[in-house]
Amino acid sequence: MLKQFNQALSQKEKSLKQLYVLINELGPISKSDLIVHTGLTQTTCSRLIEELIDLHLIIENGFGESSGGRKPHLYEIKADTHHLFGIDISRTYTKVLLMDLRFNIKAEARLKMDKTSTPDVTIHFIEEKIKDMLREHRLETRDILGVGIGAIGPLDRQRGMILNPVDFPSPGWVDVPINDILSERLGFDVVIDYGVNTALLAEYKNELFKSYKNVVYVIKGVGNRSSIILDGRLARGSDKLGMYGQGHMVVDIHGRKCICGGYGCVHAYSSMSAIKKDVIDSLKLGKDSILNDWINNIEDIQFEDICQAVNENDPLCCQIIKDAGYYAGVGLSNLITVLQPDLVILSGPTYTHMDLFYDTVTELASKRSKVIYPDHTITFSKGNLGENATAIGAGGMVLSYFLE
Ligand SMILES: [Zn+2]
Repeated sequence: MLKQFNQALSQKEKSLKQLYVLINELGPISKSDLIVHTGLTQTTCSRLIEELIDLHLIIENGFGESSGGRKPHLYEIKADTHHLFGIDISRTYTKVLLMDLRFNIKAEARLKMDKTSTPDVTIHFIEEKIKDMLREHRLETRDILGVGIGAIGPLDRQRGMILNPVDFPSPGWVDVPINDILSERLGFDVVIDYGVNTALLAEYKNELFKSYKNVVYVIKGVGNRSSIILDGRLARGSDKLGMYGQGHMVVDIHGRKCICGGYGCVHAYSSMSAIKKDVIDSLKLGKDSILNDWINNIEDIQFEDICQAVNENDPLCCQIIKDAGYYAGVGLSNLITVLQPDLVILSGPTYTHMDLFYDTVTELASKRSKVIYPDHTITFSKGNLGENATAIGAGGMVLSYFLE
């Protein structure tokens, strides 16, 4: 039945769907609250609830507060009526999550992206992991609601294509019709959106964040991606925009040359590759660092080594991270000045692996916003879902596809 909810519906099916959507959003919820939200009569609401229970779409779960008489039954969606897959394709890893309808993670797989991670290799990995998970959890094709992908842009969401992302570690990522390929091989509905959008929507479901109306979400890793909620709704720019994006906001007009061809972009100072280059250049100049003891060949230094050095208070790496954080903080301050968010979530390896970077950026952005908007308070957070946010949100997109 759930899979039919996105097709042409009879009046009765529309009422069932309306009730299911409400129970999904607000559950556990009592019948009387459902009546308040829908305007249904007591008899009709009771009948529809019975029908949703018979269809194995909802269950009774506990009792609510009594308003005099008996405590009312509470209803919530049945989490294992179907399962769904959420996929995160980023420049550093591809992740596959199997989840139930309440986004409890049942299985996960991760592929580190490197120069061998062509579209063929990556899609084959996704396909095989999905088949493995189906086998291990004894699920059939009919048990799966669909596959959601959160990916690096630019995308053609309508046609389900990854267009031409820059800075991908492997070649071949040009006009990849990933939705059609996966749908053909697996037999599921596949939907795609920008990974930063799905991550923000996943975090925004959290009770802690729901009350914020304007939210800026940033993922900082190889690139710098951001997504925005304005007045409680995801704000979308045009689809299929260029390859670069928000990391190419200029923070120094006389600054460094950037990969986009411009000068002084945030990316040129605070991307993982920019930080790595600064560290390697400094070591080549003979500067002292704990990294000299750890690594034989300077060129072999990985971003993870720098994170570890920073977390062990290596003075050189700490200074480079503070400088990079300064430019990222100026960029974030500009976003805050324009968008006036009340919540800023900073995610991605650069923020989550190094408190020093996160602290430098938030301190600067916070001070700057106090100057521009003295009466406005901004909450900064690293989010609650960590690396899984994009894939969880991609799964959420599948459920929304059937319920909207
Ligand atoms: Zn640039």
